Amino acid sequence: MSLHYPVFAMRKTLTILLALVAAGASAQFEKHFYNKTLRIDYIHTGTATTDVYALDEMIEEPFWGGPKTSLVSPFDYGEFKYTVTDDATGELIFSKGYSSLFAEWQTTAEAHELSRAYPENVVMPFPRKPATVNFYKRPRNGNWEKQFTLKIDPKSYFIKKENRLQFPHFMVNDAGDPEHCLDLVFIPEGYTAAEMDKFREDCKRMAGYLLQTKPYDEYRDKINIYGIEAPSAESGVDVPGKGIWKKTIVNSAFYTFNIDRYLTTPDMKSVRDLAANVPYDLICVLANSQTYGGGGIYNHYALFTSDHPMALPVFVHEFGHSFAGLGDEYYSSEVAYEDYYNLSIEPWEPNLTTLVNFDAKWKDMLVEGTPVPTPEKQKDKYPVGVFEGGGYMTKGVYRPAHDCLMKSVSYKEFCPVCQRAIKNMIGFYTGN
Ligand SMILES: [Zn+2]
Repeated sequence: MSLHYPVFAMRKTLTILLALVAAGASAQFEKHFYNKTLRIDYIHTGTATTDVYALDEMIEEPFWGGPKTSLVSPFDYGEFKYTVTDDATGELIFSKGYSSLFAEWQTTAEAHELSRAYPENVVMPFPRKPATVNFYKRPRNGNWEKQFTLKIDPKSYFIKKENRLQFPHFMVNDAGDPEHCLDLVFIPEGYTAAEMDKFREDCKRMAGYLLQTKPYDEYRDKINIYGIEAPSAESGVDVPGKGIWKKTIVNSAFYTFNIDRYLTTPDMKSVRDLAANVPYDLICVLANSQTYGGGGIYNHYALFTSDHPMALPVFVHEFGHSFAGLGDEYYSSEVAYEDYYNLSIEPWEPNLTTLVNFDAKWKDMLVEGTPVPTPEKQKDKYPVGVFEGGGYMTKGVYRPAHDCLMKSVSYKEFCPVCQRAIKNMIGFYTGN
């Protein structure tokens, strides 16, 4: 015992020190924010090369589910970001990166011929004092450009305090205090009132699969999963290419950008109104359908179907996009995007590289002597390498492993690089 005592004492001191750091960070939260959410709804419109932001409305929501100790994001991910500064001191008090359906649409052929409008929204803890929100876009050259500035008067009586989509919730996985957990909310899409039991069962099945997939399996007691009991008028979802239209609560549809398997919704107001019933970090929309497909956008949402034979890995794949900012590692399927990645800069996704700045990616995970690029025939020798093809492009974009759940949903496992990115993100949300 005596031999171990000094180690124990040191650990105790470290624990106290860490607790003090956390208390200091938490005091920072209390100084600047209330424990609830400010949501900013805006319309994002433009073309392939232009962006216009227009304020729609601001909404106060009852919970803040996000971390209170990492308020400025350490991840430089996403096509967009927003920063919040305190007006009195100019101090940066919050920031977050995200992507959106509009940004994807900007890379389609249609965006060269037409301007379109998409509703978007961002959330932050509710500021105590006047603050300024700046919205940035990452253009093709990769250097952030400021697009829009919004002054927040937290006392303004125009900040809406009602939620038009209030519904009861249930726990799918209960891990405890949302401040120290990753909090996911499952929203039902195309489940009628009579199908709410099916929704509960589908949530259990999906959550169970996520929590047994590496590396999520190590964090079962750190991930809260909520379900919202919000029925749709009709069962199923829209399939425009087959003339199928259903009255559903978040208005999702296949055939996004005319790709039959791409299921998304532009109705971010309904998505956020439903999520606001609980303290959440990430939104998962579960669509009641047997069709293959889905979509996942970083810090926006993951959308996936319930009953296709591949539904479980599709969900975990889409959640990889929306949660950890992972890019698609495939390059042979049909997509609507044209030259999605600029080969003269490093992409922001942690699992793709153009080799422009590979040091910032997974170079530290390669064993000595790994050929760069790594020939496909040496895939067994190098479980982590630099394999050409990824991000919808056969040339110039490289992925970390021969196979990965981000390349093919039939593979069902994340490569070591994706696993590390997921662990880093869980650490951000749980404070570990
Ligand atoms: Zn991967």
